[in-house]
Amino acid sequence: MITIYLRFYEELNDFLPKTQRKVEFVKDLLLRTTVKDIIESCRIPHTEVDLILVNGQSVDFDHKVNNGDKISLYPMFESIDVSPVIHLQDRPLRNLKYFADAPLGKLVRLMRLLGLDVHYDRKITGLEFLETALKEKRILITRNRQLLMPNKVTHGYCIHSNAPYQQIKEVVRRFDLKQQLKPYTRCSICNSKLKKVAKKGIINLLEPLTKKYYDNFNHCPECGKIYWRGSHYQSLNKLIESFKR
Ligand SMILES: [Zn+2]
Repeated sequence: MITIYLRFYEELNDFLPKTQRKVEFVKDLLLRTTVKDIIESCRIPHTEVDLILVNGQSVDFDHKVNNGDKISLYPMFESIDVSPVIHLQDRPLRNLKYFADAPLGKLVRLMRLLGLDVHYDRKITGLEFLETALKEKRILITRNRQLLMPNKVTHGYCIHSNAPYQQIKEVVRRFDLKQQLKPYTRCSICNSKLKKVAKKGIINLLEPLTKKYYDNFNHCPECGKIYWRGSHYQSLNKLIESFKR
């Protein structure tokens, strides 16, 4: 029998039962096993863990534990003054593309309004979602932690919150996006890039008050939706401001 001591940090605790959150707890194992297996036996997707310290030394997922090991596990961006360390998750890529799981429609809309490239199809769920995201080399965004467990998933994020405005904050923080957002450049309905359109060309499609108060418009060349900086613009700007704080 092997006894190890585990301590998870920051939002990794969200996955644990209450008695194991933010404390060191003991786990007994029948055999020596890898840290990755231990993480997943705690029902935490490996894509959530960026740094593992075993007795203060940085290790990777394949490291096999020994009796008495003290293991500390950190998510992305948990700053810690230990070097050299092995970061297990890739640093943010230059061109991030996402595939969001079916229940995340409201988050998808916000991500697209901030200019992020998000594929979304309510009909694609479960394993089909997983396979399609991998085939299209998109980052999986899901609340279903099981979908992030397979080894072949290297880029993914498990959304913790229920509330779309919290969810978007999680995504921006997790992928360090606050400098990369391009608000009002992408269609929230179909993900296409927006184009400027002259007011006179669409004036017949506008409501009287919109016609009166707004002069600058974009439209989606794919689905035809027209965008202007109306009331939703204020709340989105507040959100963007909150990322900077
Ligand atoms: Zn569109």
